[in-house]
Amino acid sequence: MAGTTPPGVLVLDGGMGHLLKSHDIAKFAPHLPPERQFAAAALANAAAPQLILSAHVAYIQSAPPLGPSYAPLKDMPDNLMEEEYRSLCSAMAEHVDVFLCETMASIREAHIAAQAARACGRPVWVAFTLRDAPDPQPQLRSGESLHAATKAMLELGVEAILVNCCSAGAVTAAVRALHTQLAGRNIRIGGYANGFRQTTDEWLQGRGEMATNDPADFEPDAAGTAAILPHAYARHAQAWVGAGADIVGGCCGIGPAHMRVVCEKLKERADA
Ligand SMILES: [Zn+2]
Repeated sequence: MAGTTPPGVLVLDGGMGHLLKSHDIAKFAPHLPPERQFAAAALANAAAPQLILSAHVAYIQSAPPLGPSYAPLKDMPDNLMEEEYRSLCSAMAEHVDVFLCETMASIREAHIAAQAARACGRPVWVAFTLRDAPDPQPQLRSGESLHAATKAMLELGVEAILVNCCSAGAVTAAVRALHTQLAGRNIRIGGYANGFRQTTDEWLQGRGEMATNDPADFEPDAAGTAAILPHAYARHAQAWVGAGADIVGGCCGIGPAHMRVVCEKLKERADA
């Protein structure tokens, strides 16, 4: 969902999954088996739809990775992926303003997801998850370049390119690269990082407590999964806007407290 909008910048919600987990969502859907308890998110939305609608200006619907996050899906053939995304998107198209194919780890999956979403007649945004290094030539988690991935998405006619669920520093580098690549085109740029002290790359490699994210962004004694401090996250979000992003939000580990400060800081920036 997208909400409070300082001039020119669309602000997305924070990460819903981690927020619900932190509120022990299982208690809202005790009849569901553990692997289905994320369905409690739908129940939570259904419980107070007017409250949710009044706080948002647009309904941005996720088209998520079909396999585990952060890993390119290798063992599912194209035709099955197409079928899956088509059925997902066509079921929701009537109710959404934009499809957001997010946490895309490879060009193949992004291409199939975006094509299926596009066929439903709604605007399509694509968000890639990146290796966590603040690399001026960012790479998807597949190792493919963000530059090549963006080029492929432009050929499909997507309306926005974003990066998500990687470290805040990787988002900054990527927004700069996208701003250069997309200069002169009417394509929105966005970013929403995750908030973990231990980078996702390190977590995937099982490298324990090593912390390459900026220690100054966290409480001094924070462990690997502790979330970034709200003011630190807002500083990063301001840097993304300064570098050319006009969509910012939060992914895993980023919640309402972070997004509140992001909105405040962006409003101050707009008023200055
Ligand atoms: Zn995430």
